Amino acid sequence: MTVFHKIAKGEIPCNKVYEDEFTLAFHDINPKAPIHILVIPKLFATDLQDVDDNTLAHMHKAVKEVARLTGLDKNGYRLISNVGKDGGQEVPYIHFHILGGKKLKWPHLTDEPDPHKSL
Ligand code: AMP
Repeated sequence: MTVFHKIAKGEIPCNKVYEDEFTLAFHDINPKAPIHILVIPKLFATDLQDVDDNTLAHMHKAVKEVARLTGLDKNGYRLISNVGKDGGQEVPYIHFHILGGKKLKWPHLTDEPDPHKSL
């Protein structure tokens, strides 16, 4: 059982932003941007490889709702779903990271040198 199983069941608290029948969205405990919200489905799946299309559609709807509620839809945001070991997934319960609130850098996502620097 992961921490997100417990949050989905209401066994541990979260800083909730949005909830519907199928999904829950809450602030990340260790934010990597001024606004950093996680979206999880209530029906468990491990990751994007595992999740069914219907659940994914509900998660997409929740992302759009969260963006609207927080104003992130105005200037934009980044949507990330880490998958597995190489993807850096720490919690094996599918989730979207919604990141925004400032203009985000892109190269910080990689350990490789910035490919745009030489251009
Ligand atoms: P990932 O590395 O993609 O699996 O992301 C897991 C995310 O869950 C990290 O950004 C953590 O900061 C976040 N996290 C872990 N525990 C909690 C919690 N109890 N409440 C909110 N966010 C959490």
